[in-house]
Amino acid sequence: MSSAALYPPLNAPTANMFGNVPGYEGTVEGGGGYLPPPMPLEPVAPPQPGPEPEEWSIPSLSEDVARDAFKSYASSNCCYSKAPADDGVITNMEPFNTYRYRLETFTESRSTEWASKPHEGEPADFYTQTAPRPWEIPAHTPSLFTNHTEEIRVPYTSSVQDCSTCHATGTVQCEVCHGSGYDKTCWVCNGSGTRNDEACSHCDAKGKERCTECDGRGTKECETCKGKRQILTYIKLKVEWVNHVEDFVVEQNSGLKIDDLRSVTGKELFKNSQYLLYPLMGFPNPAISEASERLIQEHQSKYPQNSRILQQRQTVELIPITKVNYKWKGDSHLYYVYGNENRVSADNYPATCCCVIL
Ligand SMILES: [Zn+2]
Ligand SMILES: [Zn+2]
Ligand SMILES: [Zn+2]
Repeated sequence: MSSAALYPPLNAPTANMFGNVPGYEGTVEGGGGYLPPPMPLEPVAPPQPGPEPEEWSIPSLSEDVARDAFKSYASSNCCYSKAPADDGVITNMEPFNTYRYRLETFTESRSTEWASKPHEGEPADFYTQTAPRPWEIPAHTPSLFTNHTEEIRVPYTSSVQDCSTCHATGTVQCEVCHGSGYDKTCWVCNGSGTRNDEACSHCDAKGKERCTECDGRGTKECETCKGKRQILTYIKLKVEWVNHVEDFVVEQNSGLKIDDLRSVTGKELFKNSQYLLYPLMGFPNPAISEASERLIQEHQSKYPQNSRILQQRQTVELIPITKVNYKWKGDSHLYYVYGNENRVSADNYPATCCCVIL
């Protein structure tokens, strides 16, 4: 919510005056909160395309690829010595490939609040017709699964008032010179207005310098109405599209932290989207089916409370993880290569400072 929403606009009608706009009874200065959408949930029975089992294996990493990934990892850490990556000898490679289930729920929510702006000729249409209800107002939905916000002036809620800040003059007194147009003492005549018994030419004998804040005018443009003398007050509809993303990664016991996997992609095994998803049944790994059922149920009960679900999408990826053991200078060490990107994790890299004598 914008900071402007924390304060009632100076010239806003009070809730007592205008609180009876049909459909906007709860709208008050400072924001009316989120509005429950009128659309009821209607889960639709889906097709359940089963993934092809033979596609689910991915080739394990070759030693060359593992070594190259490790070398670029070492050189991307400027302080690391490259010696362990260059000279280490791989002794074992073990796959710990795992599944990631991802649920995305794309929602639209709407909230209203009284707002005001300088009046720039907009018609004062308050009550000339019945205002459309918040969920009847057309809004342009952005691409699915992308966050976006739009603010709309609700038709037939606008009224015009004189700006009270400037008493409809469009200007206010300059606070630096208090309206005089001059502020500092003239440095040439030191405030006397004369120099060598003649009128000071620098300040025109005023003894003071022109105010730079208001350029000598003594007044400034009113910030409330931006000089327009009038304020338009209206109900503002805020439409927010949010993509809620939730992941579940099957525990793989390799020692690699699940958080590391957030930044990588895997091989996409399954993907479908529809208005309201049906849980993914019969996946060979039961933890994925359980996660699908649980997360879909959570999202479909949580988000409709203050938003409207527009679309859901679920994805299953197989994320390659290889645990690599190697020997360097007689000691055993390990690192992980994971994701389509062949990212490397090596928490105990044996030479983290290249200035160590090797
Ligand atoms: Zn001034
Ligand atoms: Zn002077
Ligand atoms: Zn004003």
